[in-house]
Amino acid sequence: MKYPCLETEFNENLDKQIVKIINQYWKIENRTFLYSPTKLRNKFGITQPKLNSIVKNNSKTKLFLDECVECKKPIIIPVTSQSTAKSKIENPYFHCSDCRSKLDPTPLNDDFTSPKNHRLKYAIKARYWNKLTREELAVLKKVIEFDNYRSLQKKVIQTNFEHYWPIIEKLDRLSLIEIQRDPLHNRIQKIYFLPELANELEINRKNIVFTESSLNFNVPQKLNRTKETQPNFLKPIKFDRDIVLKKGIEYICSIWNNPDGSINFGLKSIDELKAQKDSTKGSDPKTIGEVIKEIWK
Ligand SMILES: [Zn+2]
Repeated sequence: MKYPCLETEFNENLDKQIVKIINQYWKIENRTFLYSPTKLRNKFGITQPKLNSIVKNNSKTKLFLDECVECKKPIIIPVTSQSTAKSKIENPYFHCSDCRSKLDPTPLNDDFTSPKNHRLKYAIKARYWNKLTREELAVLKKVIEFDNYRSLQKKVIQTNFEHYWPIIEKLDRLSLIEIQRDPLHNRIQKIYFLPELANELEINRKNIVFTESSLNFNVPQKLNRTKETQPNFLKPIKFDRDIVLKKGIEYICSIWNNPDGSINFGLKSIDELKAQKDSTKGSDPKTIGEVIKEIWK
Protein backbone atom coordinates (compact mmCIF):
# COMPACT_ATOMS: atom_id res chain seq x y z
CA MET A 1 0.00 0.00 0.00
CA LYS A 2 1.18 3.48 -0.80
CA TYR A 3 0.70 5.85 2.11
CA PRO A 4 -1.03 8.09 2.84
CA CYS A 5 -4.27 6.99 1.26
CA LEU A 6 -7.97 7.26 1.99
CA GLU A 7 -10.81 4.80 1.96
CA THR A 8 -14.38 6.00 1.78
CA GLU A 9 -17.47 4.03 2.65
CA PHE A 10 -20.66 5.42 1.13
CA ASN A 11 -24.17 5.29 2.50
CA GLU A 12 -26.61 3.25 0.44
CA ASN A 13 -28.67 4.61 -2.45
CA LEU A 14 -26.81 7.84 -2.97
CA ASP A 15 -27.29 10.21 -5.83
CA LYS A 16 -24.53 9.84 -8.45
CA GLN A 17 -23.66 13.52 -8.16
CA ILE A 18 -23.16 13.16 -4.38
CA VAL A 19 -20.83 10.21 -4.85
CA LYS A 20 -18.88 12.18 -7.43
CA ILE A 21 -18.44 15.16 -5.09
CA ILE A 22 -17.31 12.95 -2.21
CA ASN A 23 -14.91 11.01 -4.40
CA GLN A 24 -13.31 14.18 -5.67
CA TYR A 25 -13.24 15.69 -2.18
CA TRP A 26 -11.06 12.85 -0.95
CA LYS A 27 -8.90 12.44 -4.03
CA ILE A 28 -5.29 12.56 -2.94
CA GLU A 29 -2.06 12.30 -4.89
CA ASN A 30 1.45 12.71 -3.53
CA ARG A 31 0.16 13.80 -0.12
CA THR A 32 -1.93 16.58 -1.68
CA PHE A 33 -5.68 16.84 -2.14
CA LEU A 34 -6.42 17.36 -5.82
CA TYR A 35 -9.67 19.27 -5.27
CA SER A 36 -9.69 21.97 -2.64
CA PRO A 37 -13.07 22.81 -1.05
CA THR A 38 -13.05 26.11 -2.97
CA LYS A 39 -12.53 24.30 -6.27
CA LEU A 40 -15.37 21.90 -5.50
CA ARG A 41 -17.72 24.67 -4.35
CA ASN A 42 -17.22 26.53 -7.60
CA LYS A 43 -17.37 23.43 -9.73
CA PHE A 44 -20.65 22.15 -8.28
CA GLY A 45 -22.13 25.51 -7.31
CA ILE A 46 -22.58 24.69 -3.62
CA THR A 47 -21.79 26.48 -0.36
CA GLN A 48 -19.16 25.37 2.15
CA PRO A 49 -21.72 24.18 4.75
CA LYS A 50 -23.48 22.23 2.00
CA LEU A 51 -20.20 20.64 0.93
CA ASN A 52 -19.39 19.73 4.54
CA SER A 53 -22.77 18.14 5.08
CA ILE A 54 -22.59 16.21 1.79
CA VAL A 55 -19.28 14.70 2.83
CA LYS A 56 -20.14 14.08 6.48
CA ASN A 57 -23.70 12.84 6.16
CA ASN A 58 -23.26 10.46 3.27
CA SER A 59 -19.96 8.76 3.85
CA LYS A 60 -17.28 7.69 6.27
CA THR A 61 -13.61 8.04 5.43
CA LYS A 62 -10.54 6.48 6.95
CA LEU A 63 -7.05 7.82 6.47
CA PHE A 64 -4.36 5.19 6.12
CA LEU A 65 -1.54 7.33 7.37
CA ASP A 66 1.45 5.06 7.30
CA GLU A 67 2.72 1.72 8.44
CA CYS A 68 3.11 1.39 12.21
CA VAL A 69 6.85 1.31 12.92
CA GLU A 70 6.24 -1.38 15.50
CA CYS A 71 3.67 -3.91 14.25
CA LYS A 72 3.74 -2.89 10.57
CA LYS A 73 -0.05 -2.66 10.44
CA PRO A 74 -1.48 0.47 8.86
CA ILE A 75 -2.17 3.43 11.13
CA ILE A 76 -5.82 4.20 10.48
CA ILE A 77 -7.50 7.44 11.50
CA PRO A 78 -11.14 8.34 10.83
CA VAL A 79 -11.36 11.76 9.16
CA THR A 80 -14.27 14.02 8.32
CA SER A 81 -12.53 16.89 6.55
CA GLN A 82 -9.55 17.60 4.34
CA SER A 83 -8.08 19.89 6.94
CA THR A 84 -8.00 17.25 9.70
CA ALA A 85 -6.58 14.72 7.25
CA LYS A 86 -3.96 17.25 6.15
CA SER A 87 -2.86 17.99 9.70
CA LYS A 88 -2.42 14.26 10.36
CA ILE A 89 -0.40 13.86 7.18
CA GLU A 90 1.81 16.80 8.05
CA ASN A 91 2.31 15.70 11.67
CA PRO A 92 2.04 11.96 11.41
CA TYR A 93 1.96 9.40 14.18
CA PHE A 94 4.41 6.56 13.88
CA HIS A 95 2.54 4.03 15.97
CA CYS A 96 -0.91 2.57 15.59
CA SER A 97 -3.24 3.14 18.54
CA ASP A 98 -2.70 -0.42 19.86
CA CYS A 99 1.06 -0.04 19.95
CA ARG A 100 0.80 3.45 21.40
CA SER A 101 -1.22 2.22 24.35
CA LYS A 102 1.15 -0.72 24.84
CA LEU A 103 4.21 1.52 24.79
CA ASP A 104 2.70 4.19 26.94
CA PRO A 105 0.93 2.49 29.79
CA THR A 106 0.99 5.64 31.94
CA PRO A 107 -2.57 6.32 33.09
CA LEU A 108 -3.97 9.68 32.08
CA ASN A 109 -4.24 11.00 35.63
CA ASP A 110 -0.54 10.38 36.21
CA ASP A 111 1.75 13.34 36.76
CA PHE A 112 2.08 14.44 33.17
CA THR A 113 5.43 16.07 33.70
CA SER A 114 7.00 12.71 34.44
CA PRO A 115 8.78 11.63 31.30
CA LYS A 116 7.38 8.75 29.34
CA ASN A 117 10.48 6.76 30.04
CA HIS A 118 8.96 3.51 28.93
CA ARG A 119 8.31 4.84 25.46
CA LEU A 120 11.66 6.63 25.29
CA LYS A 121 13.43 3.43 26.25
CA TYR A 122 11.58 1.53 23.61
CA ALA A 123 12.55 4.08 20.97
CA ILE A 124 16.20 3.46 21.81
CA LYS A 125 15.81 -0.31 21.83
CA ALA A 126 14.09 -0.19 18.45
CA ARG A 127 16.73 2.24 17.17
CA TYR A 128 14.17 4.72 15.88
CA TRP A 129 16.88 7.11 14.77
CA ASN A 130 17.16 4.83 11.76
CA LYS A 131 13.83 6.28 10.68
CA LEU A 132 15.23 9.77 10.44
CA THR A 133 16.59 11.52 7.42
CA ARG A 134 20.17 12.67 7.62
CA GLU A 135 19.04 16.21 8.38
CA GLU A 136 16.66 15.05 11.13
CA LEU A 137 19.38 12.96 12.71
CA ALA A 138 21.66 15.99 12.69
CA VAL A 139 19.01 17.93 14.62
CA LEU A 140 18.64 15.10 17.14
CA LYS A 141 22.40 15.16 17.64
CA LYS A 142 22.28 18.90 18.24
CA VAL A 143 19.56 18.45 20.87
CA ILE A 144 21.78 15.98 22.69
CA GLU A 145 24.98 17.97 22.28
CA PHE A 146 23.43 21.11 23.69
CA ASP A 147 21.50 19.33 26.43
CA ASN A 148 20.03 22.71 27.30
CA TYR A 149 16.83 24.01 25.81
CA ARG A 150 17.70 27.70 26.13
CA SER A 151 20.97 27.42 24.25
CA LEU A 152 19.48 25.09 21.66
CA GLN A 153 16.65 27.55 21.15
CA LYS A 154 18.99 30.49 20.84
CA LYS A 155 21.77 28.96 18.79
CA VAL A 156 19.84 26.55 16.59
CA ILE A 157 16.04 26.69 16.57
CA GLN A 158 15.73 30.47 16.37
CA THR A 159 18.05 30.65 13.40
CA ASN A 160 15.42 28.91 11.28
CA PHE A 161 12.33 28.09 13.27
CA GLU A 162 10.21 26.86 10.34
CA HIS A 163 12.88 24.34 9.48
CA TYR A 164 13.88 23.13 12.91
CA TRP A 165 10.64 23.07 14.84
CA PRO A 166 8.79 20.45 12.76
CA ILE A 167 11.85 18.21 13.10
CA ILE A 168 11.89 18.65 16.88
CA GLU A 169 8.20 17.73 16.94
CA LYS A 170 8.87 14.67 14.84
CA LEU A 171 11.60 13.56 17.25
CA ASP A 172 9.06 13.98 20.04
CA ARG A 173 6.43 11.92 18.24
CA LEU A 174 8.99 9.20 17.66
CA SER A 175 9.73 9.28 21.41
CA LEU A 176 13.42 9.91 20.85
CA ILE A 177 12.96 13.06 22.90
CA GLU A 178 10.17 14.51 24.97
CA ILE A 179 9.21 18.16 24.78
CA GLN A 180 8.26 19.11 28.32
CA ARG A 181 6.05 22.11 28.90
CA ASP A 182 5.17 23.98 32.00
CA PRO A 183 1.59 23.02 32.79
CA LEU A 184 0.36 26.54 33.49
CA HIS A 185 1.58 28.45 30.47
CA ASN A 186 2.31 25.60 28.11
CA ARG A 187 5.77 27.06 27.60
CA ILE A 188 8.55 24.66 26.80
CA GLN A 189 10.71 23.98 29.81
CA LYS A 190 13.09 21.45 28.50
CA ILE A 191 13.71 18.80 25.94
CA TYR A 192 14.17 15.59 27.79
CA PHE A 193 15.98 12.55 26.48
CA LEU A 194 17.45 9.49 28.11
CA PRO A 195 21.20 9.49 28.75
CA GLU A 196 21.33 6.10 27.01
CA LEU A 197 20.39 7.83 23.77
CA ALA A 198 23.55 9.93 23.85
CA ASN A 199 25.58 6.79 24.55
CA GLU A 200 23.95 4.84 21.75
CA LEU A 201 24.52 7.61 19.25
CA GLU A 202 28.02 8.14 20.62
CA ILE A 203 27.49 11.83 21.07
CA ASN A 204 29.57 13.87 23.40
CA ARG A 205 27.52 16.54 24.95
CA LYS A 206 28.94 19.91 24.16
CA ASN A 207 30.14 21.77 27.16
CA ILE A 208 29.24 25.19 26.01
CA VAL A 209 31.11 27.67 28.11
CA PHE A 210 29.17 30.82 28.89
CA THR A 211 30.95 34.13 29.28
CA GLU A 212 29.80 36.17 32.24
CA SER A 213 30.85 39.61 33.35
CA SER A 214 29.65 39.49 36.93
CA LEU A 215 28.79 37.08 39.67
CA ASN A 216 25.18 37.30 38.70
CA PHE A 217 23.98 34.78 36.21
CA ASN A 218 21.52 32.12 35.25
CA VAL A 219 22.21 28.44 35.85
CA PRO A 220 20.10 25.92 33.96
CA GLN A 221 18.78 22.76 35.46
CA LYS A 222 21.08 19.83 34.91
CA LEU A 223 19.01 17.52 32.77
CA ASN A 224 19.49 13.82 32.55
CA ARG A 225 21.37 13.35 35.76
CA THR A 226 22.71 9.84 35.78
CA LYS A 227 23.70 9.77 39.45
CA GLU A 228 22.14 11.10 42.61
CA THR A 229 25.42 12.80 43.47
CA GLN A 230 25.35 15.05 40.42
CA PRO A 231 24.23 18.65 40.93
CA ASN A 232 20.72 19.79 40.10
CA PHE A 233 21.92 22.94 38.36
CA LEU A 234 25.04 23.19 36.28
CA LYS A 235 26.74 25.27 33.64
CA PRO A 236 30.35 25.87 32.72
CA ILE A 237 31.26 29.56 32.79
CA LYS A 238 34.22 31.86 32.32
CA PHE A 239 34.51 35.55 33.15
CA ASP A 240 35.43 38.34 30.80
CA ARG A 241 37.34 40.05 33.62
CA ASP A 242 38.81 39.27 37.00
CA ILE A 243 36.32 38.84 39.77
CA VAL A 244 37.91 39.34 43.16
CA LEU A 245 36.34 38.26 46.41
CA LYS A 246 37.89 40.16 49.28
CA LYS A 247 38.49 39.11 52.82
CA GLY A 248 36.33 40.80 55.46
CA ILE A 249 33.83 42.25 52.99
CA GLU A 250 30.18 41.43 53.44
CA TYR A 251 28.54 39.78 50.44
CA ILE A 252 24.96 38.94 49.72
CA CYS A 253 24.36 35.63 48.02
CA SER A 254 21.02 35.35 46.23
CA ILE A 255 19.35 32.50 44.44
CA TRP A 256 15.91 32.47 42.92
CA ASN A 257 13.85 30.10 40.82
CA ASN A 258 12.81 30.86 37.27
CA PRO A 259 9.64 29.52 35.68
CA ASP A 260 11.69 27.39 33.26
CA GLY A 261 13.31 25.45 36.11
CA SER A 262 16.63 27.27 35.99
CA ILE A 263 17.90 29.42 38.84
CA ASN A 264 19.49 32.80 39.03
CA PHE A 265 22.57 33.03 41.13
CA GLY A 266 23.99 36.27 42.41
CA LEU A 267 26.85 37.27 44.67
CA LYS A 268 27.38 40.94 45.39
CA SER A 269 29.13 42.97 48.04
CA ILE A 270 26.93 45.15 50.24
CA ASP A 271 28.79 48.25 48.94
CA GLU A 272 28.11 47.30 45.35
CA LEU A 273 24.43 46.75 46.15
CA LYS A 274 24.21 50.15 47.84
CA ALA A 275 25.85 51.88 44.91
CA GLN A 276 23.47 50.15 42.56
CA LYS A 277 20.50 51.15 44.69
CA ASP A 278 21.57 54.80 44.63
CA SER A 279 22.04 54.85 40.90
CA THR A 280 18.62 53.35 40.24
CA LYS A 281 16.80 55.52 42.78
CA GLY A 282 13.49 56.72 41.44
CA SER A 283 13.09 53.92 38.95
CA ASP A 284 10.96 50.89 39.66
CA PRO A 285 12.62 47.75 40.90
CA LYS A 286 13.38 45.29 38.14
CA THR A 287 11.27 42.22 37.69
CA ILE A 288 12.93 38.84 37.43
CA GLY A 289 11.90 38.81 33.76
CA GLU A 290 13.90 41.95 33.06
CA VAL A 291 16.91 40.60 34.89
CA ILE A 292 16.75 37.35 32.93
CA LYS A 293 16.41 39.25 29.68
CA GLU A 294 19.54 41.16 30.52
CA ILE A 295 21.41 38.03 31.32
CA TRP A 296 20.31 36.25 28.17
CA LYS A 297 20.58 39.03 25.66
ZN1 LIG B 1 1.30 -1.05 15.73
